Amino acid sequence: MPLTLMLIWDYDTPTGFAVSYHSRTADPMLEYTCTDRILALLAGHGIVSTFACVGKAAEPGDLPLHNPAQIRQIHAAGHEIASHSHSHELLPALSQAELRQTLRDSKAALEDCLGAPVVGFVPPWNRPFHHPRRLAFSGKDWRAGGGRWRHSVSSLCAALAETGYHWVRVHYRPVWQQLGRKLGRRDLRPLALGQYHGVYTLRLSYCGYDQTLTDWLATLADPGRDTAVVLYAHPHAIEHDNSQHWHHLTRFAQWSSDQRDALQIRFTTPSAWLAGQQQP
Ligand SMILES: [Zn+2]
Repeated sequence: MPLTLMLIWDYDTPTGFAVSYHSRTADPMLEYTCTDRILALLAGHGIVSTFACVGKAAEPGDLPLHNPAQIRQIHAAGHEIASHSHSHELLPALSQAELRQTLRDSKAALEDCLGAPVVGFVPPWNRPFHHPRRLAFSGKDWRAGGGRWRHSVSSLCAALAETGYHWVRVHYRPVWQQLGRKLGRRDLRPLALGQYHGVYTLRLSYCGYDQTLTDWLATLADPGRDTAVVLYAHPHAIEHDNSQHWHHLTRFAQWSSDQRDALQIRFTTPSAWLAGQQQP
């Protein structure tokens, strides 16, 4: 049975850099130059992935705020394009109307750019973390909402269903997993698929592609089981000194080529994978 890997890139661009503490001083062209390197590497290894793009970058206009040509190039190379909101908003701080606006605006900008449907969504900073139906409660989301929970994973799905999306990448930790982390327990879990209001939730497994990941993936290969894993990283972070660095990415790409047959590794996109699943 295959080990299915879905690699999702958060394509923040200078619109995202402007609101991110870590990237505020980054070279405004960094996302684009790094994406060129990544596309060449992925093509060389036959890896298909997904780029979750800030809608603003898809609008016509000048670099570095806009780069519709690169988004079309990514799509033409066979990768899925998803929305990463319109202007990299912090969703738990938005009103219901503002949330729907950024979902609509980004989808329209990306679809106009590509001339193709965009049905996936990746929330900036992976938030909301709040998901009471799975016993995940987020103090950070409560504070961002000005002392209340404005959104949860399931209410985000309701807004996504209204605005025409089909899947969303989610990240939440039930209370016992938050406790386990505090006790130093390993926090690696394969994909769990959920569905709220008709929108599929794909739970994130890992950030980056370092040795911790490949050691774990090797233990997941099980001839009796079909296992899927969702990974994420940022194109510009291949220049960061962390699990997303270029040297980890190139090693991971080579490892996956070497292990492809032994571990039955296949790379796919959320839309292609969901199309192949039995609909619950
Ligand atoms: Zn982002």
